[in-house]
Amino acid sequence: MSHLTLRAEAPGCADSGVWLTCIACGERFPPFAEIRYTCDECDGLLEVRYADLPTWDAFEGTGVWRYAAALPFDTGVTLPEGDTPLHDVPRIEAALGIDRVRVKHEGMNPTGSFKDRGMTVGVRVARQVGVDRLACASTGNTSAALAAYGARAGIETLVLLPRGKVAAGKVAQASLHGARILEVDGNFDTCLDIVQDLARRGEVYLLNSLNPFRLEGQKTIGLEILEQFRDEEGVYPDRIVLPVGNAGNTAALYKCFRELQESGALAPEEVPALTGVQAAGAAPMVEAIEEGNEQTRRWEEVETRATAIRIGNPVNAPKALPGIRETGGTAVAVSEPAIVRAQRDLAESGVGVEPASACSLAGLRKLRERGTVGADEHVVCLTTGHLLKDAEAAVRAGTEPEPVPGTTGGVLEHLAD
Ligand SMILES: *Cc1c(COP(=O)(O)O)cnc(C)c1O
Ligand SMILES: [Zn+2]
Repeated sequence: MSHLTLRAEAPGCADSGVWLTCIACGERFPPFAEIRYTCDECDGLLEVRYADLPTWDAFEGTGVWRYAAALPFDTGVTLPEGDTPLHDVPRIEAALGIDRVRVKHEGMNPTGSFKDRGMTVGVRVARQVGVDRLACASTGNTSAALAAYGARAGIETLVLLPRGKVAAGKVAQASLHGARILEVDGNFDTCLDIVQDLARRGEVYLLNSLNPFRLEGQKTIGLEILEQFRDEEGVYPDRIVLPVGNAGNTAALYKCFRELQESGALAPEEVPALTGVQAAGAAPMVEAIEEGNEQTRRWEEVETRATAIRIGNPVNAPKALPGIRETGGTAVAVSEPAIVRAQRDLAESGVGVEPASACSLAGLRKLRERGTVGADEHVVCLTTGHLLKDAEAAVRAGTEPEPVPGTTGGVLEHLAD
């Protein structure tokens, strides 16, 4: 049993420290008394709100829970997660002709992606509300993370994956951590439709990024980047470039910046420009930004080697589009060869990432070539998942093994050729 303390003591009381607010109509709901993922009134997306927002001096310790003062709980179901490296990449910096480029490698989380930051909070909430079955739709990494955190919490876990469309390493993780894996005849968006129906019927507790508590955990990516960059570079970054799938991270980073501004911890001119990158074969967010639309159009057919962002209907678009616009950012689509090149460039700097993660660098290169990103900028590229997540893609992008004889002489002869 959990002995953890809840910051908002009075369940159901909208005036306690934590509540949910609909981003469309403003309706308030109690955070844990009942389970809901969208607004009862208008079906809008929900956001977690706090009576007190912390300043920098409220944070202590390491990892996600360093930022407990900005989260609904003091601690959670932890493996632990966060505290990921912010790599220097001097060769990439020089090649791009940008003053400062750092790479925040979220692939260094316990299950190899940033999804762990969301799950440490989301599964803690699941415990709070007392559910006995967790579920998610996934392009792979969400299922790996949920399986691990569900196992840690001792709660049954169900994952819905698009059949034949998920990298083997990610399925292996979900499988070994003991989740039930349902391979759906359909794409990711179909899986999400089904799991949302199951959640509405009370069959499962939904831990996709539609769940507003997951985004609270992912908000700590922003807090960590800002602190690390400031402590090492003396300033906050001008821009954060990230791959976009369901746009949960984009929404979470925007929320992070808004809360810091509200508490006075970040000046308006210090807010980084949120810059989203999608693969050209799955780019509804880029389309919405380029056309100035309030909403994304659902793409029925999506294709890219960046399987983690092979998503045609980004559920968090209503939260993320204003984030890109109001921080002065942009969105850009990148080609498959550009993704491979960026994956190689990162790997040659010692940073091993999966294809979706390489999109951030591919997008930065494209925006630099266009002149959208200036030479004097300080940029952070977010790399979301580890190279080993998709070993097959890495092998395809990497160098060929060379067969040699089983003798030193034979090897020397081969090397001399
Ligand atoms: C989930 C995921 C993304 C997409 O993140 P969103 O928050 O859905 O936009 C990108 N890269 C990797 C590796 C992921 O696992
Ligand atoms: Zn509403």
